[in-house]
Formats: sequence, C-alpha cells, structure tokens
Amino acid sequence: MEVVKTIAAMRQARQRMSGRVGFVPTMGYLHEGHISLVRQARAENDTVVVSIFVNPTQFGPSEDLSTYPRDMSRDTNLLAREGVETVFVPSAEEMYPFGFQTWVEVSELSRPLEGAGRPGHFRGVATVVAKLFNIVQPHRAYFGQKDAQQVRVIQQMVSDLDMDIQIVVCATVRERDGLAMSSRNSYLNEQERKAAAVLYRALGAALSAWERGERNAQHLRSAIAETLAKEPLVQPEYISISNPATLQELEQVSDCALLSLAARAGKARLIDNLLLPPRDGNL
Ligand code: AMP
Repeated sequence: MEVVKTIAAMRQARQRMSGRVGFVPTMGYLHEGHISLVRQARAENDTVVVSIFVNPTQFGPSEDLSTYPRDMSRDTNLLAREGVETVFVPSAEEMYPFGFQTWVEVSELSRPLEGAGRPGHFRGVATVVAKLFNIVQPHRAYFGQKDAQQVRVIQQMVSDLDMDIQIVVCATVRERDGLAMSSRNSYLNEQERKAAAVLYRALGAALSAWERGERNAQHLRSAIAETLAKEPLVQPEYISISNPATLQELEQVSDCALLSLAARAGKARLIDNLLLPPRDGNL
C-alpha cells in the first residue's frame, strides 16, 4: 500500500491505476463504519483509494478541529489489511495553499439541519470533496448514510457540476446498543457513552409509531423528543422529519421520510438518522 502526501504524487499514482477506481474520503480515526465503505469499494472496483484529511474548512471557529482524534499509523495499518492500494493524506497547506479562494456551495440543501447550526460546514465539505474528486478522479465514491445531509449535498453537487462519478451510499454501522459508530464517540466518558444509545432508541420510538400507522410528522417528532428527554446527559439540538430528497420539513409522512437528529452528550455532538420506510442497515 502506498501512502501519498502530495497532489502531484496522488496524480502520478492515479495514472498507474487501471480499471475501475473506488474512492472513500474520510477524516481518519477509522472505525467499522469507515471499514464497511472500504470493503464495499474493494468489492466493486479494481483499485481502492482512501483519503484521510481533517478538513479545516468544514469546522466552525468554536468547533473541534484542534481536538479531532487522529491516529495515522493505526489507520494506515487497518487500510493495508483491507487491501487498499493508495492512501492520500495531504496537509492543510497542500489542499489550501496561500491565496485559495474558490468555493463550492450547494445552496438549498446546505441550509437546514446540520447547516442551520454549523454555518459554512457544507461549503467546506462540498469544496474539499470536489477537490478530492478532481485529484483522485474515481469512477465511484463511497459515503455513509450516517451523514445523510452530506450525501444529499454531494449527490446534488455531482449532478449540478456534471461530475462523472457514481455516488454509492452505504448503510450506517452501529455499536451493539445501536449507537452509530463515529470518530467523535471517543469524546464520550463511560456514563455519556451509555446515555448516547438513547439516540437510536429515540429513532426506534418514531419507527414504532410509524409502524403503528402514525403519519403526523409532529407526533413522530414528539415520539423522538419524549424518548430523548428520558436521558438527562443528552441534550437535543434538533429533531427533524424531512423529505429525504429536499430535506424540507414535513407535516405529513405520505411515502418516505428522513428522521434525523443532533444532540450533545458531554463534549460530543452526535448525529443520527433513519429512513422511512426502513432500509437495510437502518434500525
Ligand atoms: P468521517 O471520517 O466522519 O468524515 O466519515 C467518512 C465517511 O464514513 C463518510 O462518508 C461517513 O458518512 C462515513 N461514516 C462515518 N460513520 C459511519 C457509520 N457509522 N456507518 C457508515 N458510514 C459511516
């Protein structure tokens, strides 16, 4: 496995690749969620490229850029074991040299949910993913349903900017108690970690209500809120029942819906979601 640090070296490595190239962008501190994307990319392509880059432009000024967990040697060992050909690990200076001033903004889809509480976040995400796509030039790129809004933003960017890349969405990988795997789970102490499973239980409460025939979105939001309220260590930020394509809030769930939420537990800000009707990997 080759670990490359510069854009020039990544382009050279890309020129030597033949057949289908699958790409998995990450911020590192890898867990089974990331590995599931790598395995799917491995199964569907001739060559797999993974990037590890903690992208500064997607963090707000009061967010966790400086404390975001990092363990490059563990990550590269894990990826070597998965048979990855190339790992791209650029520095911030490599990706954003002095004078950088071009941004990709997916306007409507970036506004609600995560975008409301994290202004500029999806501008940073779309910009770095566009750059990574230009550098790696994959045929397919793999993203987790865990970050449902990110998936929609990337799909829209690829469509709007005519990028010839297939976006593959992979199911959310969860811990035994249902907590969605996340690098940020490492911020949780033992008590908070136990409490954090309430996010999954809250989505489950809305799913049960939906299965009983509840279609009023406000009642489904209440089912989530009431479950979250039972856990004082977890403070909800938003609870949403939206159209999975537009991310606009729904009054009534007629066919499909995206249930999503963000909550704080200690130092961690956690997000999770579930699609209705349920699909593989979602509850
Ligand atoms: P990150 O390193 O957090 O930026 O995540 C890199 C990719 O892994 C993104 O496409 C995420 O959606 C995906 N991912 C993160 N956590 C999970 C999970 N628990 N299950 C599936 N995919 C995930």
